[in-house]
Amino acid sequence: MPGTSRMPVSLRESFNSVKRSRPLASNPLQVLSLDLVRNIVFTLFLLRWTRRVLWKLKGRGLLGTIAELYGDLRRVLYGYFLRLPGVRTQVRKQVSEAISKMEAKMVPAHATRYLTLPKEGWTEDAVRKELDTLVAMDHTRWEDGYVSGAVYHGEEELLRLQTEAYGKFTVANPIHPDVFPGVRKMEAEVVAMVLSLFNAPPGAAGASTSGGTDSILLACLAARQKAYAERGVTEPEMILPETAHTAFRKAGEYFKIKIHYVACPAPTYQVDVRRVARLINSNTILLVGSAPNFPHGIIDDIAALSKLALKRRIPLHVDCCLGSFLVPFLEKAGFETVPFDFRLRGVTSISCDTHKYGFAPKGNSTVLYRTAAHRAYQYFVDPSWSGGVYASPGMAGSRPGALIAACWASLVSVGEAGYLAACEQIVGTAKKLAERIREHPALAGELEILGNPLVSVVAFRARNLNTYDIADAMTARGWHLNALQNPPAIHVAVTLPITKVWERLAADLEAVVEGEREKERVRAVEGKKSRGGKDAGGDAAVLYGVAGSLPNKSVVVDLATGFLDLCYKA
Ligand SMILES: *Cc1c(COP(=O)(O)O)cnc(C)c1O
Repeated sequence: MPGTSRMPVSLRESFNSVKRSRPLASNPLQVLSLDLVRNIVFTLFLLRWTRRVLWKLKGRGLLGTIAELYGDLRRVLYGYFLRLPGVRTQVRKQVSEAISKMEAKMVPAHATRYLTLPKEGWTEDAVRKELDTLVAMDHTRWEDGYVSGAVYHGEEELLRLQTEAYGKFTVANPIHPDVFPGVRKMEAEVVAMVLSLFNAPPGAAGASTSGGTDSILLACLAARQKAYAERGVTEPEMILPETAHTAFRKAGEYFKIKIHYVACPAPTYQVDVRRVARLINSNTILLVGSAPNFPHGIIDDIAALSKLALKRRIPLHVDCCLGSFLVPFLEKAGFETVPFDFRLRGVTSISCDTHKYGFAPKGNSTVLYRTAAHRAYQYFVDPSWSGGVYASPGMAGSRPGALIAACWASLVSVGEAGYLAACEQIVGTAKKLAERIREHPALAGELEILGNPLVSVVAFRARNLNTYDIADAMTARGWHLNALQNPPAIHVAVTLPITKVWERLAADLEAVVEGEREKERVRAVEGKKSRGGKDAGGDAAVLYGVAGSLPNKSVVVDLATGFLDLCYKA
């Protein structure tokens, strides 16, 4: 290779000139060895980059690589455009206008605000009265089944039992198992029950966490630490279906794990396992599949991923955060199902949210590993701290024992029969809703269901109308559904409260689609442009239709940051 030899020669020349002017380097042996080191370093550098380029070409193909470069270039150039003085002022103005509008909706203008501690503590009655006002604030009616996801059970009896369990352990902290032995026992039992639900083999182990994101972060961290300890991987990479939960992207940012995204194309909307295989290299620390994913409620081909993971000897995490206590019951409930758990030998870790369809109060989740040794990679142990030898299983130090008690109480009070019945009811409703969308004359021609959802989420998009206009019109009718992007779609995550009102949901959807069709007809008569996918309308249409189509999403980032700021506006 002429390119590789030319460079070191010129290096050598420049080195020689330096040598001439420096008496210190006049020893010929020293010159030779320095020269050698220089060549070795350069060759390693070259090898490293050649390897990277080859990996890229293998993973994405030539056209894919060019397309990626083009996308990056467009993003960067558009970023510069947004920073031009005139443009920047205009963008800032529009962003702050949008945030003011959000503020008007989120932060009540006339309520009494408490910004400092009261001089004297309030009486119990006063606190109670204020809490009653707060809980009654105008809100989207989850109690009446108007909210997708969010509240999965919500029935009085279970809530009362959870509150009682919480009350008994309000002061408890599992960091002190000698002080709160009951909490230690309950925590271990919750993990054991979930392990058994997912057919964990002997020797498997798990931990409880504060939520699905926490579970996923820990699974990624453990995979990274494992790869470093066992394979010496210092530049970790993981391969993600595009539809995998964003918590994996968070893990990538927090733990410096490079992410390769793999498309989940129509008609199945499952991750393309052949593409996953092409992206594997010696830095790969983790493969990921969802059972099911959040956006479309689709279960990836976990069996194929497991086979690949076994063959290439790479850990595979299955995200069952949403599937939680529904997927394990599909078979018993008589619904169509696919393999997803530890019975597939390539599956090395699973996240399962007890606070979703496990019906425990929020702040509860579990992460499971095929082996206890794998779990130990998520532990943090500090043997030398002046505060004493310190060990914690996850990211938190102190943790709420009361939440563990409430989780344990939920699991044992609902029991296998209860979860089976809930699965029948919730998945049964999702199937009825999907069927209605596929077959009702008002909906069938217009709405298209994404893939073949097997669990509780039904995602759909409009064929001719603007999907986000439909989402906004449903919001206007009091529904809180989820707007999705890439492609534009809407989903409903069916919960127990929704099972009671799903027919009203379907009827409203029919009315909304009919209404939007009528608007299109009027537009056509007036000779106006069809809204088939562009232009601003309601909130979802503005956010996803306009800002979402930009090559650089920094405006969306500004809006979302403004939203987070508002969450803390007292
Ligand atoms: C909800 C969810 C998560 C994350 O759970 P949080 O409890 O919100 O942190 C992860 N994966 C999927 C598929 C989910 O639906």
